[in-house]
Amino acid sequence: MSNDSNLFSLDGEIALVTGATRGIGAEIANQLAAAGAEVIGTATTPDGAGEIVRRLGDGHAGRVLDAGSDQSVQALMGGLGNRAPTILVNNAGIARDNLLLRMKPQDWQQVINTNLSSAYRLCKAVLRGMLKARRGRIINLSSVVGMAGAAGQGNYAAAKAGLLGFTRALALEVAGRGITVNAIAPGYIETDMTAGVSAARQEAVIGSIPAGRAGTPLDVAAAAVFLASPAAAYVTGATLHVNGGLWMG
Ligand code: NDP
Repeated sequence: MSNDSNLFSLDGEIALVTGATRGIGAEIANQLAAAGAEVIGTATTPDGAGEIVRRLGDGHAGRVLDAGSDQSVQALMGGLGNRAPTILVNNAGIARDNLLLRMKPQDWQQVINTNLSSAYRLCKAVLRGMLKARRGRIINLSSVVGMAGAAGQGNYAAAKAGLLGFTRALALEVAGRGITVNAIAPGYIETDMTAGVSAARQEAVIGSIPAGRAGTPLDVAAAAVFLASPAAAYVTGATLHVNGGLWMG
C-alpha cells in the first residue's frame, strides 16, 4: 500500500466507508482519517452527509448513498471523478428482526439487499480502480450472528453469513492483484442498532461475554484500521472476530 515506513499509515489512500454517520461506521471513518486516509463517508440523507464532512474536516467528503440501490451506487461512483477508492468498508447495515413465521417478505428482502447485495454492488463498483492500481483493501462488516445464528434474526444471519462466503470467494479472485478482502465479525457493540434491545436482554448478553463488557465502535474500528493498513498485506479471506470472546470460530 503506502510507501510510508509506518506499517499502519494510510497516507495516500482513499477510503470509502458506507454508513459513516454513526455507530461503528462513524468510528471506522474517524480512525481511517486519523491514520492518514482521505475518507469518503456515506449517509442516507444530505443532512447526514453534511454532518460527516463537519466531523471529519477538510480533505474528507460526505456523500449520500442507499447501499440497497444500483442507481444510488452508480451515482455515488460517478460523483467521485478521479478519486478512485483504494479502501472500501462495507459497513452499512440494518436489522428487521422477527421470528420466521412472522417475518414479512419485505423484511427478508430489505435486509438481504441492504446488508449483502450492497457488498456485491459496491465491490464491483470499486474493483476496476483497485485492479488498475494493483492495490486495494476491502473490509466487509459481518457479525457474530452470521457464525452462531440468533433466534429472530434469520434474515440478518443469512446476510451476515453470506458476506463471509462472498468475502472468501472475492479474496481468491483478487489475491494475485495486491487486493485483500476480509471480514470483521463484531459481537455485541453499543450503537443505535443495539440500543433498542430490552434492558433484561442486554444484561443477559453482556453477562455472557467473557470480557465482561459490551464492545465499543472503537474496538471494531481498530480492527478495520489494521486490515486496511500495509501491516495486513498478507491477510486475506479472513474473518476477524471482535467480540470479547463471545464466540470463537
Ligand atoms: P447503526 O444502526 O448504528 O448505523 C447504521 C449505519 O448504516 C448508519 O450510518 C446508516 O445511515 C447506515 N445505513 C442504513 N441503511 C442504509 C442504506 N440503505 N444505505 C446506506 N447506508 C445505510 O449500526 P451499527 O453501527 O451498529 O452497525 C454497523 C455495521 O456493523 C452493520 O453492518 C451491522 O450489521 C454490523 N454489526 C453491528 C453490531 C452491533 O452490535 N452494533 C454487531 C455485529 C455487526 P443513516 O444514519 O443515514 O441512517
